[in-house]
Amino acid sequence: MAKSAEVKLAVFGRAGVGKSALVVRFLTKRFIWEYDPTLESTYRHQASIDDELVSMEILDTAGQEDMLQREGHIRWGDGFVVVYDITDRGSFEDVVPLKSLLEEAKKPKSATLVLVGNKADLEHARQVSTEEGERLAAELSCAFYECSACTGEGCVSEPFLELCREVRRRRAVQ
Ligand code: GDP
Ligand code: MG
Repeated sequence: MAKSAEVKLAVFGRAGVGKSALVVRFLTKRFIWEYDPTLESTYRHQASIDDELVSMEILDTAGQEDMLQREGHIRWGDGFVVVYDITDRGSFEDVVPLKSLLEEAKKPKSATLVLVGNKADLEHARQVSTEEGERLAAELSCAFYECSACTGEGCVSEPFLELCREVRRRRAVQ
């Protein structure tokens, strides 16, 4: 196997959308109900992606940092998992301004991201349709996933793996 590539991923989204739950589900295949919502954590993880070893650093942001901290996170990250909660329309409406922030901070390059609609197990409380998520992702030119950190449905790993692939594809053409 070729030597490992380093990819830094930051997870963004309003507090409560399930960022920590998604990261922990991806890393441990488990769901834990409660996390300190103010806690920011960094994890290291290695995965073989398309026959290449990738070393990921994953920053699980708290979602309530000030502008300066947020800009620091954006500069740090190679790619961004942007999460909303399908049962919280406000968290979906946060995505467009967040994308503008990412683009502004990454100039002259463009920001690399994937969009994730979490809590897909809560169908009865859904406020954002799958089609709306797909449409927004098409507008933002990024991949889109709906999943549940709680049940593991919708393949929680895929957004992280695809984001690594996209970061690496973009590096290859630079
Ligand atoms: P964060 O603030 O974005 O990191 O959100 P957390 O990961 O702390 O999750 C916030 C709350 O949503 C917690 O009570 C979680 O148990 C719950 N939660 C997270 N993901 C899911 C999910 O996929 N389905 C359901 N039903 N609850 C979830
Ligand atoms: Mg959290």
